[in-house]
Amino acid sequence: MKYHFQTAEELIKLTKRHNVPISEIAKLYESQRSGNAISTIRNKMKLTRDFMYKAVKTGIKSNKKSIMGISGGDAQKIYESLKNLKRMMGNKVTIRAMAYALAVSEQNARMGRIVAFPTAGGAGVVPGVLFSSAEHFKAGKRKLLRGLFCASAVGLIIAEGSTISAAKGGCQAEVGSAVAMAAAGLTEMRGGTPEQCFDASAIAFKSYLGLACDPLAGLVEVPCIKRNAIGCMNAIGASDMAMAGVQSYVPFDEVVRAARDIGRTMPRTIKETALGGLAITPTGNRVKKKLGLRITREL
Ligand code: SF4
Repeated sequence: MKYHFQTAEELIKLTKRHNVPISEIAKLYESQRSGNAISTIRNKMKLTRDFMYKAVKTGIKSNKKSIMGISGGDAQKIYESLKNLKRMMGNKVTIRAMAYALAVSEQNARMGRIVAFPTAGGAGVVPGVLFSSAEHFKAGKRKLLRGLFCASAVGLIIAEGSTISAAKGGCQAEVGSAVAMAAAGLTEMRGGTPEQCFDASAIAFKSYLGLACDPLAGLVEVPCIKRNAIGCMNAIGASDMAMAGVQSYVPFDEVVRAARDIGRTMPRTIKETALGGLAITPTGNRVKKKLGLRITREL
């Protein structure tokens, strides 16, 4: 296939050959793969963008708790802090990104509609980073679409070369992948080169290698929701580094291979089983008890 790619190296070569950004190749690839016209692909992504936006806007306004009552209302708190930035260390972009990411992830915990991008567990990072940055740059909807297409291409490479499943690769596969995707998408939106996009992705992804998937009672709430917020800070930081000319010493494709290897050797207890890490702390076990789940051990 003319626009097929499995690695960052192949994708970068395609961008050079056709003299277009990553987002354009992502679109052409998807059109070729699915047999749909480019306009259809674009419209589907517009729909994705609009659903993401709705989840952000609904989540920001809601202080409703999740069914288990262990999450909800934090998005609103951090969003409110924008009114008094003097008290905060982050700037408008990072605080807003965290608020948006929390909003989407809290909506997920409330069983609201979100876009799994690439998964439900990591769904807050990309909208958090891209929507907040777009507001900052006063970027139009088209630029936001470019960010989303670019992020998708990165997600595809991770899914093919490693995994986006927490059951296979721990949280590096969910929040880690989302952060790598957001870092690249933001970098393209800022006018970064394809190489800079992958430097940002590699820098971001490296920080998540080996991250345990250890949610309390197996619910995608704690620590998942706040990991999405912190993930935004990492993605923005990685993009800043790449835009300043910092390169990843280990190329992105090698980071993906490392993620695959780590996923394979990770213990089962920290791969979405709720049998290790935070899930078996006294707090984690209390949540398990509330749900009537069996306590296996406690830290
Ligand atoms: S801890 Fe597990 S369930 Fe939660 S976001 Fe990470 S991978 Fe998903």
